[in-house]
Amino acid sequence: MIDAHCHLTFEPLTGSLNAVLQNARGAGVSAIVSCAYAPSDWSLQAGLAAEEGVFIAQGVHPWAADSSWDEQALRRHLARSNCVAVGEVGLDYGPGRPPRASQRETFKRQLRIAEDLGLPLVLHCYRAFDDLFAMLDEHHDVGGMLHGYTRGPELAERLATRGLLVSFGAAVTRKGARRCREAASVLPLSKILVESDAPSRWPSGVTSTPSLVGDVVAELASLRGEDVSTLAMETSKNARRLFAIDQ
Ligand SMILES: [Zn+2]
Repeated sequence: MIDAHCHLTFEPLTGSLNAVLQNARGAGVSAIVSCAYAPSDWSLQAGLAAEEGVFIAQGVHPWAADSSWDEQALRRHLARSNCVAVGEVGLDYGPGRPPRASQRETFKRQLRIAEDLGLPLVLHCYRAFDDLFAMLDEHHDVGGMLHGYTRGPELAERLATRGLLVSFGAAVTRKGARRCREAASVLPLSKILVESDAPSRWPSGVTSTPSLVGDVVAELASLRGEDVSTLAMETSKNARRLFAIDQ
């Protein structure tokens, strides 16, 4: 399995990185994509290069959007060999977030960088899908994935039609998440990724780690009436294709 989205440079994961990676391998997770949140993560993220099976995305999250980040520094980080995507990037129009114009500016600059470097996006989007699609429309060649999917089948199909992959995590394991579970059961398997979004909180109350993607794979398999091994293999294949990981 491949954990398509988490943050290994966040506590409490950083402090126990060896154990976290060992548990993940023990649980059958062969690769992990760790995402940056803000420029202050970039060096720590780059330091993960030494870890086998760890790949990184570098970028500026919409919650950290402002005009102060250094585009040349980001480009330098993205040129490193273990860097497989621009992320985590996107738009978030929830209350208390940075001004929308500032988020759009930060996202637009990173869309151009992704296009220049031929890298996919790891997207975060909340209540901003119309603007997200409009901005993506200006960069047809840029692919990517939407992380932490929680919505219904219509939006999932719209994303898939745009050529994006849809990444499922904790939300789909909640029995009450009817719409999200419906999306997970109707999307073509070739459009699906799985993620832990570690160290976020799992529905059971524990702090998520990459080893939990097995729970997501099992849940998807039962929802879709497919084998766990098929789900594991195909979602890994999707991640390897998107992030150009050859393992
Ligand atoms: Zn995240």
